[in-house]
Amino acid sequence: MNIKSLFQRIRNKFNPQPELTDEVILKFLHVLEQARADDLSCTDMYARLDEFVDSELKGVDADKIAPLIHEHLDMCSECCEEYEALLSVVENTKEQ
Ligand SMILES: [Zn+2]
Repeated sequence: MNIKSLFQRIRNKFNPQPELTDEVILKFLHVLEQARADDLSCTDMYARLDEFVDSELKGVDADKIAPLIHEHLDMCSECCEEYEALLSVVENTKEQ
């Protein structure tokens, strides 16, 4: 599972809601790619973000599974915002 397949999954769940269109997702992915260019830690983060979010939603202590990701989220406000956005999308998806 990678971030793109996660987005695919989210997009499938959300269709046909208008706010999560291909364009919105592509923009979001583009932002992720740009952030990734500056910081190797951000790359690691995005590679495991879906796994991290899944763990949180299952009530697993994600801090133990991925302490570096947790640490990175504390330090990097950009990634933290992306993480929170992704988490809220996935939480909404689980409602259905
Ligand atoms: Zn970051």
